[in-house]
Parts: sequence; structure tokens; C-alpha cells
Amino acid sequence: MAVPFRRTSKRRKRLRRTHYKLELPGMVRCEQCGEWKLTHRVCPHCGYYKGRQVVEK
Ligand SMILES: [Zn+2]
Repeated sequence: MAVPFRRTSKRRKRLRRTHYKLELPGMVRCEQCGEWKLTHRVCPHCGYYKGRQVVEK
């Protein structure tokens, strides 16, 4: 079995782990009120979607 010749440095280890992240954060700023919302969802703060109000407050 192959064995590592050198110990992996902190930098290398950390650089490798920069790729370990959650997929699809899906969070964007609402274009109407600027609050954080999920993509392809009606904004829960102002009820806007695609530039028009679709849910009444
Ligand atoms: Zn909004």
C-alpha cells in the first residue's frame, strides 16, 4: 500500500477543504424589498415575484 511521503501542510489541507461546501445555497436578495429569500419562491417579506405582487399582505 502506498504511504504519503510528506505530511500534508496546514495550507494544503485547508486549500483542499475550501471545496467542501453545501450545494445550492439558493439565497438571493429580493429585487423588491432587498431581503434575503429563496430563489424561485415568492418573497415572504413583500409577496413579490418576478416584479409583481402575487401574494396580498
Ligand atoms: Zn421582497
